[in-house]
Amino acid sequence: MKSIAPSLLAEFAQLLAQREAQWRAALAKVEHGMPESEGQHEVSDFKDLASEQASAQLDKSQADRLRQSLQQTVAARQRLAENRYGQCQDCGQPIDLRRLQALPETPCCAPCQARRESARQHGQSVLSRPD
Ligand SMILES: [Zn+2]
Repeated sequence: MKSIAPSLLAEFAQLLAQREAQWRAALAKVEHGMPESEGQHEVSDFKDLASEQASAQLDKSQADRLRQSLQQTVAARQRLAENRYGQCQDCGQPIDLRRLQALPETPCCAPCQARRESARQHGQSVLSRPD
């Protein structure tokens, strides 16, 4: 298998460390701001309650996305440590370098990502993209 140059791996290691810190900080902020957290009863009227609930839902999906990104980043750092970085987790092929540079925590190559997404969209019966 064609491996990534050590100088590039060092760059990815640094990038992933930065991104992990970034996801963690963003997640902490979102989770901290969640109104449903225990012992927090500062809502004064129903209007506030409604908007608090709406923003809680937003926060939840945001938190889920952040958690997923964080998880992927941690997993990518693990692969890097194990010298398996840049290898698609689905098909085992090397992931395109440009893709890694744009999305260093990605677990799979572009075709597999597209497959994953279309499988997910199929399951949820949301809008289908013409392709
Ligand atoms: Zn793949």
